[in-house]
Amino acid sequence: MDDTIARRRSRHSRKKTRPVPYVLAGGIALLILIIVAVVALSTAQVKLVLAGGGEMTVEYGQPYTEPGASASLLFFKADVVSQGEVTADKLGSYKITYSASFFGKTTTVERKVNVVDTTAPVITLIHNDNAFTLPGHTYEEEGFVAEDNHDGDITDRVQRMVDNGIVYYYVKDDSGNETTVERKIVYNDITAPELTLKGNATVYVVTGKDFVEPGYTAIDDAEGDISAKVEVTTDFNKNTPGTYTVTYKVTDNYGNATEVTRKIVVSNAQQQQPVGDPVGGVIYLTFDDGPSQHTLRLLEVLDKYDVKATFFVVGTAGIGYLDEIAAGGHALAIHSNTHEYSEIYANEDAFFADLYAIQEKIYQRTGVLTTLMRFPGGSSNAISKNYNVGIMTRLTKAVEERGFTYFDWNVDSKDAGGAKTADEVYQNVINGCRNKKASVVLQHDIHGYSVDAVERIIQWGLANGYTFAALTPDSPTAHHPINN
Ligand code: ZN
Repeated sequence: MDDTIARRRSRHSRKKTRPVPYVLAGGIALLILIIVAVVALSTAQVKLVLAGGGEMTVEYGQPYTEPGASASLLFFKADVVSQGEVTADKLGSYKITYSASFFGKTTTVERKVNVVDTTAPVITLIHNDNAFTLPGHTYEEEGFVAEDNHDGDITDRVQRMVDNGIVYYYVKDDSGNETTVERKIVYNDITAPELTLKGNATVYVVTGKDFVEPGYTAIDDAEGDISAKVEVTTDFNKNTPGTYTVTYKVTDNYGNATEVTRKIVVSNAQQQQPVGDPVGGVIYLTFDDGPSQHTLRLLEVLDKYDVKATFFVVGTAGIGYLDEIAAGGHALAIHSNTHEYSEIYANEDAFFADLYAIQEKIYQRTGVLTTLMRFPGGSSNAISKNYNVGIMTRLTKAVEERGFTYFDWNVDSKDAGGAKTADEVYQNVINGCRNKKASVVLQHDIHGYSVDAVERIIQWGLANGYTFAALTPDSPTAHHPINN
């Protein structure tokens, strides 16, 4: 045991005595180390790292911010040089090249930057708060604008579709970004219906006769013809003379209501002298188309012989002498307000508007409510065919339904045609009346020569046992055959 320790000690002390080989070995080691380092440096590559990666996406219009790059060789840092740029307001792909050099070694890396448009266009709807779409009607476009961040105004590319109360607007930009917006159509109706009365605002009814409704139309902007919805109420009483009101009211589906009224005047008809039992026949002298400047003279002649006649008056030219006619005990009767064939025979409504207008004029002027009438041209006229086929067939019924009595004639004085002198008129009349039990004589008091014939006609009639009388609703009507 003691011997072993001694040997080790001896070996140790031997090494300390030879230091030169250790220095040499250290130098060799260092050399090897340097060689290894040089070899490592000469074989290593410069490492280049791009922050943000090799491919980047930038939204169109947004600025491109360079994320940078770093380079190193082993544990040495190297400088990075970049080349290339990105134009952010132009779509496309851009390349940026990064390079770093060290110890004569260069590494180059590329970055791809894509400038893209992923922003959808914006559709702005124009809306007017006071604009409504009528129920059941087509929506009227209030307007819209489509704007895109890249393409600009693309309103003209908008596609529109209407379905089930909604308008759909669709647009796509050049990059394929799509936008759809919707508009809910607001349906409403704020306009009241239009209620129009046919016939006159005031209707005259002889006591005891029915009021015949001349008709009405109700048109609504949304619903069209809603005449059937009109409610008619009245306090009319046919048995008591007085003024009554007919109220017409119509309401549309949105509660808009319209109300109009019409007046009914109930009045006793003019009283006529009863006709006695004539020895010969009865002659009803009738005068159309007046009054005129010859009427007063005619009234004087009639008065002189106490002869009553009938005046079918026309509403034009001032219609003078109505009071004188009524005061003389003659019958005031309706011929026409305008006597314009093309107007009055255009349709039934036009005819009755004209008829009631002249009836009202006579009533206003004289207080006489007359229901006696004669059609311009007579009921047999064919002229009306030019304006409305079949209208005489219908009117002759319609006037009677409305309480009028129409008269034609069975003795024509021809003062509107062949007869041009008082003598011719006189001859035509007495030839026509001869041997007739009832003569309804047609004359026109607008022709002086016809008026001139009247005194001789009366003298002839009285001398031959005839009686002269004014027409009443019960007199012979001398109706003609209808030709239209
Ligand atoms: Zn006439």
